[in-house]
Amino acid sequence: MSDINPMSIALKNCAKTFADGTKALEPLDLSINAGETVVFLGPSGCGKTTTLRIIAGLEEPDAGGSVLFDGQDVTQIPIEQRNVGMVFQSYALFPNMTVAENIGYGLKIRKMPSAQVRTRVGEMLGMMQIEKLANRRIDQLSGGQRQRVALARAIAVRPRALLLDEPLTALDAKLRDTLRLEIDTLLRSLQITAIYVTHDQAEAMALGDRIVVMEHGRVAQIGAPRDIYQKPATRFVADFIGTMNRLNGAVRNGVFTCRAGDLPWPDAPADASEILFRPEDIRVTDTGEASRLQGTIASAFFLGDRTRLFVEVGEKLPLVVESTARRDFSRGEQIGLAIDPRGIVIL
Ligand code: ATP
Repeated sequence: MSDINPMSIALKNCAKTFADGTKALEPLDLSINAGETVVFLGPSGCGKTTTLRIIAGLEEPDAGGSVLFDGQDVTQIPIEQRNVGMVFQSYALFPNMTVAENIGYGLKIRKMPSAQVRTRVGEMLGMMQIEKLANRRIDQLSGGQRQRVALARAIAVRPRALLLDEPLTALDAKLRDTLRLEIDTLLRSLQITAIYVTHDQAEAMALGDRIVVMEHGRVAQIGAPRDIYQKPATRFVADFIGTMNRLNGAVRNGVFTCRAGDLPWPDAPADASEILFRPEDIRVTDTGEASRLQGTIASAFFLGDRTRLFVEVGEKLPLVVESTARRDFSRGEQIGLAIDPRGIVIL
């Protein structure tokens, strides 16, 4: 599949107001490199699908906005000439055609000779490991099989970018994990430019070279998954991705003092009044360990590989703590807590 020639995609000043007055997108600038996988992540209604549809050519941006493929303005070019492949949550396959006919459909439309179509379809069936399903009708397939067909059909035409809109949302958790891995392998081996829309942060972290976090039609943050997770730029991003703890207090002489006690923090900025940190950056300490925070366990959920604790520390919300200690925790138990200063975020 080395004959895929991935393109860069840029949006310039792309806003979208629908006919009924709904403002779905504020003016947006975005550059996606050739061969990159970018994930649009955000809550329902934040404008992910609208952005994707503008890139595909299914929606036009408001006046003044433009879409560039490899630097060329394609804003006025219709979808069928943009050479992008699309995969949706709802498959959008032809139910009365066979798997092979579905995969070959785009090639026939492009007038590829039938011998070549057969070869290409065979290749795609092999790539998605669905050779045995070639002659089945779509309504005889499971959800996971349909999504494999949809991917095969999108890739068969050698698109210069692949746009995927929540392709795994309709599937159960286990199948989603399997297909997520397959999609990751597929995107890496094709080195195709891909944009993947999801509201599932685990999916976003797993697949994205970069994640675009969206909120109310705006970009809240763009970055590599690790940056977004460890250095969230706003409260919204901090809370939307994973679990974030908060403590209010004040810094004096390298110590952050809060209701739960004193936290040694040599590099503390003097004006820090609220600190944020992830559950994995807080540790349950041995009793008697010096300089630690104190709390009371409100709930403890044993999850097999770890225990998730909710610990009352006199703040509005309990702290969420993940412990891998091989011991039982009980409600009402007093525990000591230590926070790794490297995990502390200040906004
Ligand atoms: P979801 O995760 O639920 O699919 P999304 O982030 O993809 O959400 P969009 O589908 O882009 O969100 O919608 C953004 C906003 O635009 C929403 O408020 C939605 O109701 C509105 N919207 C989308 N399509 C239209 C339309 N054709 N006419 C009017 N409003 C629309």
